[in-house]
Amino acid sequence: MSSGKPQTERAAEWPPQPSGGANTPPDQQGPYRLYIDGRFCEPASGATLESINPTTGRQWYQFARGGSRDVDRAVQAAQKALESASWRHLSPVARSRVLRRIADATAELEGQLAVIETLDNGKVLREVRAQHDELASTWEYFAGWPDKHRGSVTPSATGTLSYVVPEPHGVIAAIVPWNSPLAITTSKLAPALAAGNTVIIKPSEQASASLLAFVEVLERAGVPPGVVNIVTGLGSEAGEALAAHPGVDFITFTGGTETGRRIAALAAARPVPTMLELGGRSPNIVFADADLDQAVEGVVTGAFAAAGQSCVAGSRCLIERGVYDEFVGRVVERVRRLRLGDPLQDDTDVGPLAFRRQMEKVLSYIEIGIDEGCRILVGGRRSTTEDLRDGFFIEPTVVDEVHNEMRIAREEIFGPVLVLLPFGNDADAIRLANDSPYGLAAGIWTRSLSRAHVVARALDAGTVWVNTYREMSDRVPFGGFKRSGYGKEGGEEVVRAYSRFKTVWVSLDEGSSADQADRAKEI
Ligand code: NDP
Repeated sequence: MSSGKPQTERAAEWPPQPSGGANTPPDQQGPYRLYIDGRFCEPASGATLESINPTTGRQWYQFARGGSRDVDRAVQAAQKALESASWRHLSPVARSRVLRRIADATAELEGQLAVIETLDNGKVLREVRAQHDELASTWEYFAGWPDKHRGSVTPSATGTLSYVVPEPHGVIAAIVPWNSPLAITTSKLAPALAAGNTVIIKPSEQASASLLAFVEVLERAGVPPGVVNIVTGLGSEAGEALAAHPGVDFITFTGGTETGRRIAALAAARPVPTMLELGGRSPNIVFADADLDQAVEGVVTGAFAAAGQSCVAGSRCLIERGVYDEFVGRVVERVRRLRLGDPLQDDTDVGPLAFRRQMEKVLSYIEIGIDEGCRILVGGRRSTTEDLRDGFFIEPTVVDEVHNEMRIAREEIFGPVLVLLPFGNDADAIRLANDSPYGLAAGIWTRSLSRAHVVARALDAGTVWVNTYREMSDRVPFGGFKRSGYGKEGGEEVVRAYSRFKTVWVSLDEGSSADQADRAKEI
């Protein structure tokens, strides 16, 4: 395993200016402020938080510690924008144009935004770039919706007409995590704006920078003030204040299951609707008839992309007994060749964990697995390589002698740890795969077309991949079952989810009021 040398910190101007080379960090200077009503502004408390670059373990910028008074200002700005002529009364075609301009500005800035995100959360730049390559097309896709987002007319009793029209919910709170801040936020923001809502984003305190830098995109695109607001800060302060605010009409959340429960409880107290994209412990099932070369690549990428800090990580690999020993040998050999290193370097495969607490949590799960009687086949430790030891690097880890009821197999680790379990036949594989509190995603590796379809239908997961893993697009629905949450992002489903539907009844009867009274009695 080789390692790249981490980049050094640079101090200069903020907001980031276009960088010279593809891998040059943007210049920056803190502290970064809140973005409310179309302006950067100070938090009411005047307090700041520091963001640590996980590659070096050192602070790389500061940002505002927003609180309830700032959330209040953001909600007022979003409410005012909602009613303004420049947003609520825009024609659908004009709203599409705004979204298209966001697509264009995103395409102009996506290279810089990717570098900022890598510095902030340590995700390998190649992976961030691949994700960000899709951002502009996501905006273009949702820009196509405003003039196609239709209501309906349902046949009803003679003499009446009932029709249904979509309307925006109003002010949407988007509470997002640190692992893919810009991609996850785009999946929420683009359809929410297409449906005519205004939005307040609460980024994670672990990775706020790329969202704050995204303000440049909003400004280049001429998004009206108050339509998009960003309140940074702690989950327990700014996050809670936003989720509990009476002026918020809908909450869309991506993050951990426990936080999702808390947010749903705060929303239920009013009540307002929520959409929750939560954690996962996704099975990747390898049948004996699979193309094993293809399956090894799919399983390793499925587990170790984003250093395993991915909600859909295929972190439980179920392997048919007939090929268990051969497949395990090949996976271990492939994992040994993964390069752990500086996420800005092109030859790095696995970067650091995003922050110290996350690294400690993952290491504690490896200890739990050892105590439960598992065997570490490769990895299992924090990196001691000289260049990496100040950062939050854990060696890619593969574990066997695992039982599905062990904590290391059931709980979400969210790190570079792959557990391997054998199975006997198809029914056994389905039972093991579904024996999990989560139901976000699953993978199947087989050459049998019928087995692929039968098993895909039997799996309790919101997304199933066959002979591939991690294919994603905002054009198709995505969302979990069971403790992985509810609601679908992507496709027409999410535009409908960010709308409320109003039914209008019209009497076509020009008869007497007595006739109308008779009809009312029928009810
Ligand atoms: P958290 O649940 O801790 O945080 C998610 C967001 O919620 C952050 O902005 C956080 O702010 C905020 N938050 C925390 N506490 C509260 C609160 N009481 N009220 C309101 N907001 C709050 O998740 P992580 O950031 O740790 O992300 C990792 C988790 O996200 C994993 O479990 C992963 O599976 C899941 N995830 C799910 C995805 C999906 O699509 N299903 C995609 C990506 C991640 P702060 O960070 O400042 O505390």
